[in-house]
Amino acid sequence: MIAVQSWQRELADAYTDPLQLLSFLELDPDDVRVPRGNNAFPFRVTRSFASRMRKCDPADPLLLQVLPVHAESRDVPGFVADPVGDQASAFAPATLRKYHGRALLIATGGCAINCRYCFRRNFPYGEQQLTRSTERDALDWIAAESSIEEVILSGGDPLLLSDRRLGGLLTGLAAIRHLRRIRIHSRVPVVLPSRITDGFIAALTGTRLIPVMVIHANHSNEWDEHVDLALSRLRAAGVTLLNQAVLLRGVNDNAEALADLAQRFFASGVLPYYLHLLDRASGTAHFEVPEQEARALHAELRRRLPGYLVPRLVREEAGQPHKTLL
Ligand SMILES: *Cc1c(COP(=O)(O)O)cnc(C)c1O
Ligand code: SF4
Repeated sequence: MIAVQSWQRELADAYTDPLQLLSFLELDPDDVRVPRGNNAFPFRVTRSFASRMRKCDPADPLLLQVLPVHAESRDVPGFVADPVGDQASAFAPATLRKYHGRALLIATGGCAINCRYCFRRNFPYGEQQLTRSTERDALDWIAAESSIEEVILSGGDPLLLSDRRLGGLLTGLAAIRHLRRIRIHSRVPVVLPSRITDGFIAALTGTRLIPVMVIHANHSNEWDEHVDLALSRLRAAGVTLLNQAVLLRGVNDNAEALADLAQRFFASGVLPYYLHLLDRASGTAHFEVPEQEARALHAELRRRLPGYLVPRLVREEAGQPHKTLL
């Protein structure tokens, strides 16, 4: 029998009903009206992440990232199901290849938290995610494509896989001679820090591949001492840590919030990497910050911070050979 780890219990214990979360935050459901039932993109928040929200504040920047709102069901021109052309770049089972030298594996469809702004909210995970049977095929494709130097595990959130499953995958990848680096994109160090177990760190750092982890945090309030501990242990084990944020209306759309985010996470060993303009996925229009405003915010950040704490302002454009630098 495989022992259930505490992070797995925590995951099972996540809020899956917005009313439970509102009650925890002492918010009145008559004031904060939540649409009922979006089965395509359900509500999900870990208790750990919820514990960092301010009570009694309907405008809390963490709450706004996860709370379903009526605006999601509005049809807005320009906002579509697959804004970044993921479907077009699928090149093997559960594998996307959009950029030179890098292949992205959809390790799993699930996430520890469902972020309402997510560009993959409409993604057909069921058809695309890596299963045991497609994993072998994906590895064969990567092995046959010698231009690929880096494999990126994404999802969904790859850290929802067990240590054993991740360890097996990493060992399989390390056996492919032309690979140099393994990169994991994950929101888990922030939303479920207990997942950063000794077993996970051993799996990530236990092969010849150079480990890089890109975490996703959008606001400095997402940092707490548990997150700090998880990140510090990864750093101490030699993992390069980067952060990718999305510029979100009402959440981090001011220079002070963005500067705080960079400074807070840098204290735990994380360098800012990308500040993304919102991908225009249907149901996310209310989060959009116009490009002009984004450029002005970024200029203000450059004035306030040392260069290494300023993330690159980018947009994802379907069919381009790299993310577009603004
Ligand atoms: C963003 C992205 C990458 C990685 O791009 P970097 O600029 O190297 O961070 C790789 N594959 C896909 C599908 C992406 O969307
Ligand atoms: S893929 Fe990332 S941004 Fe999207 S719901 Fe999952 S954790 Fe949130």
